[in-house]
Amino acid sequence: MNFDWTPEQEALRKEVRDFIRENMTKRLGGEMGEEMEEGADRERSRALRKKIGEKGWLAISWPKEYGGQGGDRMSQYIVEEEFARVGMGVGGGGSGAGAILGAGTEEQKRYFVPKVIAGEMSFCLGFTEPQGGADLAGLQCRAVRDGDFYTINGQKMFTSGAHNATHIYLMARTDPAAERHRGITILLVPMDTPGITVRPLWTVQNDPPAPPGTTYGMGRTNEVFFEDVRVPISCRLGDENMGWFIGAQGLNLDRVGASRYLISVHMDEDIINWAKESDLGGYSVKDDPAVRDKLAELWIEAQVCRLMTMRSMSIVQRDQDFTYEGSAEKVMAPEHGVTASEAISQILGPYAQLLNGSEGAVESGIYAHNLMGAFQSGINHGSVQIMRDQVARRGLGMPRG
Ligand SMILES: Cc1cc2nc3c(=O)[nH]c(=O)nc-3n(C[C@H](O)[C@H](O)[C@H](O)COP(=O)(O)OP(=O)(O)OC[C@H]3O[C@@H](n4cnc5c(N)ncnc54)[C@H](O)[C@@H]3O)c2cc1C
Repeated sequence: MNFDWTPEQEALRKEVRDFIRENMTKRLGGEMGEEMEEGADRERSRALRKKIGEKGWLAISWPKEYGGQGGDRMSQYIVEEEFARVGMGVGGGGSGAGAILGAGTEEQKRYFVPKVIAGEMSFCLGFTEPQGGADLAGLQCRAVRDGDFYTINGQKMFTSGAHNATHIYLMARTDPAAERHRGITILLVPMDTPGITVRPLWTVQNDPPAPPGTTYGMGRTNEVFFEDVRVPISCRLGDENMGWFIGAQGLNLDRVGASRYLISVHMDEDIINWAKESDLGGYSVKDDPAVRDKLAELWIEAQVCRLMTMRSMSIVQRDQDFTYEGSAEKVMAPEHGVTASEAISQILGPYAQLLNGSEGAVESGIYAHNLMGAFQSGINHGSVQIMRDQVARRGLGMPRG
């Protein structure tokens, strides 16, 4: 087995890095993040994305007829990885878009996918409801068929990005009499449909706002209310009542890839880089053997996360199905992120409590904000407890917990 990159892949990575150095600054990243939070016109992001598109780097492995480049998954991974390090997603993925390629009609693929890749359209994920997200099959938001339309009533919770998204990838119950997993349908609903109300739900990162580059630094998620929202059946993704299986496939695809891996791993890369340069009032942390030992341990863990991601990439490249691998990755990487952010808190001591804007805050308080954000990664997009259950059942053949 050869884990090396080919010379062509190395050259691509260098070209992407050079492009980022010339075209992106930390400040621009921060401004783009603010635009997202405020729901402002994303002019800067659009201009940059256009430039990236001209290089042929958007959605490299996606089919050409739907706006991708028809290339290989590993090249896309390299581009994704470099941009994810500076906080930008360029894979062409995004919640649910992979599922449209898998389960959409020809018309839906041609309509949605090129626009998602170009950044002109984006989906928020309408799965979780107030009574519980882990028990997703218990969802109650109703879509009632009425001829060629569905009428939707209900509420979604923690709908991140709903205030910016053009569409919601909505899981709704269409057959309340069916077995829980079999009465659910996915609808791709435009957010400007009458009857939809979006209300902010502020997170712990809102006050003070997290500095640019914070992992899970988003200050806002949302509640979304549906009141007699009427949509045509052409909004349906796949067959009626098959939404559970389509949604699970989409979520699994979104769980793997460079950005999901880097969310957790770049935290400890940042810590190692910082430790090399640090000077806390004349004290250099890299001179402490206990710190060096901890950093080495974290680095080894990060390599395991990376290998798990490579395994997933290889499964995708060979067009094979995931059974438990995406779930295992979704346990390992977030828990590594928590361990890494806890370790830096121990290294920083009292400095670790100083948030953005506080006098003496290290690197604008990013490590303190990362610590708060790290715990989210073990919950959202499928909690680590639920993921462990999937590994036990699908990977080890154990009974349901
Ligand atoms: C910042 C943030 C952003 C989010 N963004 C989105 C989004 O965009 N769209 C969306 O749909 N959802 C989103 N979520 C919701 C997320 O997916 C849910 O929070 C998650 O599924 C857990 O659901 P819950 O919060 O209702 O907790 P609960 O379902 O009440 O679970 C509470 C705890 O109990 C554990 N638990 C529950 N049942 C079991 C079981 N059977 N076995 C073992 N442990 C169990 C869970 O793992 C969890 O730790 C987001 C959440 C956060 C925090």
